[in-house]
Amino acid sequence: CGIVGAVSTRNIVPVLVQGLQRLEYRGYDSCGVAVHQDGELRRSRSTARVAELQAQVDTDGVASGTGIAHTRWATHGAPAVHNAHPHFSNGRIALVHNGIIENHDELRAELQAKGYVFESQTDTEVIAHLVHQLYDGDLFEAVQQAVARLKGAYAIAVFSRDEPHRVVGAREGSPLILGVGTGADEGATYLASDAMALAGVTDRIVYLEEGDVVDLQLGKHWIVTRQPGGGFKPVQREVKTVQAHSGAAE
Ligand code: GLU
Repeated sequence: CGIVGAVSTRNIVPVLVQGLQRLEYRGYDSCGVAVHQDGELRRSRSTARVAELQAQVDTDGVASGTGIAHTRWATHGAPAVHNAHPHFSNGRIALVHNGIIENHDELRAELQAKGYVFESQTDTEVIAHLVHQLYDGDLFEAVQQAVARLKGAYAIAVFSRDEPHRVVGAREGSPLILGVGTGADEGATYLASDAMALAGVTDRIVYLEEGDVVDLQLGKHWIVTRQPGGGFKPVQREVKTVQAHSGAAE
């Protein structure tokens, strides 16, 4: 349903949770946030409102410059904490997803045969394990290979325990935008399913297109796009300055 992600030198958990709050009006049944903290993946998830997630994040002491967050509208698997995003794979990959993966059964069977253990009933968890399986130290590369295997609609945000200042996003059939930090926030890069999630954070936005995979790092980003014949090629997408609008969740 809603996605927010960030790479920054300061703690971005408040920005992630506030971003979810701005997307709340769309409806959701659960929410969660995951960060790269002390060399590990940490997360808080809840079936309550985003305000409860904020309280839980404070209790859990979740704080980091790199993280992803999600509000879920369940399509596969009941609304429950264990089905809430972010999903992890083997303590190494953290992932959130909007949309539906149509070939999830086939991919799950394939991954289970390779020894992957599933903790949820979601279609999303297959993407986390697929990225893990294809991961060889370069998340941008692994996500390109993983999305080439997916059928269906998705916007995803992913990070790896092994690359502390990197978040990778991809879209096909679901919206995803990139935000570029300015002023005191220079160097931060953001991802969101809707520019409204970043209102008051940055007004410099790149609207990603179908088939795009984006690599967010500190103060820089790269975009590649899927080729009709297979494979990806680098693309430049314009950074636009959007009007800050006061959303319903303000
Ligand atoms: N299909 C995924 C799930 O059920 C994502 C749903 C969404 O877009 O929030 O977990």
